[in-house]
Amino acid sequence: MPAGTGPDAPWKAWTVLTTLDELKGFEEPSGPRRAYGVDHGEFRGRRSWLEWRRDEQSLAGGDAAVVVVGAGQGALTVAARLKQLGVDTLVVERNPRVGDNWRNRYRSLVLHDPVWYDHLPYLSFPVNWPVFSPKDKLADWFESYASAMELNVWTGTEVFGGTTTMAPSTGWCGCGSPTGRSGR
Ligand SMILES: Cc1cc2nc3c(=O)[nH]c(=O)nc-3n(C[C@H](O)[C@H](O)[C@H](O)COP(=O)(O)OP(=O)(O)OC[C@H]3O[C@@H](n4cnc5c(N)ncnc54)[C@H](O)[C@@H]3O)c2cc1C
Repeated sequence: MPAGTGPDAPWKAWTVLTTLDELKGFEEPSGPRRAYGVDHGEFRGRRSWLEWRRDEQSLAGGDAAVVVVGAGQGALTVAARLKQLGVDTLVVERNPRVGDNWRNRYRSLVLHDPVWYDHLPYLSFPVNWPVFSPKDKLADWFESYASAMELNVWTGTEVFGGTTTMAPSTGWCGCGSPTGRSGR
């Protein structure tokens, strides 16, 4: 970015980054807008967080609006963002555990990028995290992240077909056991 005009104008910056943080009118419920999170007091029919969470995870209230295929870090990021925007999202992962996509790589693997480039939304790596993450430590972090962000992840489940659509309640997604392929 030249500081003036003309071929001899000195450069002030080589790279300029712009990122979209938030949409006006669709501000995310975080910081001062965070969810209240609890109904205080005892009353008939009161449900605990665990009961509510189990229903959400099993889609007891109805189908998800968005199905994300695979629970790699890309999927976890998208699912966390959609959750904050109030979009019902299901992540379907064929491996038995979140993070297995890293656990299953070669045993000496350590990330090549330093930790400060690797943060996921809303929950940065702890300040005492090593500069370079060993693959199994990273895998465990992804599993903790999915839990802390309350993401609905079905592991041990494979997506084997489906359609995409913008119209509500018209899409279809086939998923089931990676071996049996039976399921919803
Ligand atoms: C050896 C190696 C070292 C790397 N080192 C680095 C590094 O140091 N720094 C860096 O930034 N990047 C590194 N990368 C690249 C990085 O791992 C990838 O860019 C990243 O994993 C892509 O993330 P993703 O979420 O898009 O997909 P993936 O991590 O590939 O995850 C996809 C997930 O989808 C699941 N899946 C796929 N199909 C289905 C289906 N039909 N149904 C259900 N589940 C399904 C898979 O099981 C998998 O868990 C490395 C990659 C490798 C292989």
